[in-house]
Amino acid sequence: MENKVTINGLTFVPYLTHDKIMEQVKRVASEIRSDLGESSDPVFICVLNGAFIFAADLIREIGINDCKIAFVRYASYEGTSSTGHVRQLTGLTEDIAGKDIVIIEDIVDTGLTAVKMIDDLKKQNPRTVKFATLLHKPESSKTGFEPDYVAFSIPPKFILGYGLDLDGKARNLHDIYVIEE
Ligand code: 5GP
Repeated sequence: MENKVTINGLTFVPYLTHDKIMEQVKRVASEIRSDLGESSDPVFICVLNGAFIFAADLIREIGINDCKIAFVRYASYEGTSSTGHVRQLTGLTEDIAGKDIVIIEDIVDTGLTAVKMIDDLKKQNPRTVKFATLLHKPESSKTGFEPDYVAFSIPPKFILGYGLDLDGKARNLHDIYVIEE
């Protein structure tokens, strides 16, 4: 783990190590696997771009071979804060009618993206909808939205790494970093 990371003139310090992240990814994976049960052929919906690394690790840990993986893309952030306006950039191409779906997100902040996405996806009549997030900032909620699965609950500070970016950068980092105070 690097001591400090500087991106676009902002400094970030270590917050969660890759080992700690993987421990929680495994816990969430086993919760999802036992809730889905043996007979389910779920569709995992990865929310681009930030969730791609979490989703790759989580889906492999869940270990259900009879699953499909789909992608959606929403945007609400510019720089380090939410605009409050959520837009769908890429929709779903997979048929989810009658399916158990698990949405996989990197972080729930205000909850606005999650609420909009669930609303959009429910229109396609899935059998069940669950929501898994790597990170949850409960104090930032503007919606009261509660994810079904949370790897880490964190205070409302800007973080990056393990898929999460600052203006598109630093998604490659193995560990998660928090903005220096
Ligand atoms: P919400 O709609 O819940 O306010 O925001 C969800 C989206 O905001 C996430 O998918 C993510 O793109 C972005 N976001 C929220 N907090 C952070 C953060 O601390 N770091 C990064 N990199 N993105 C964040």
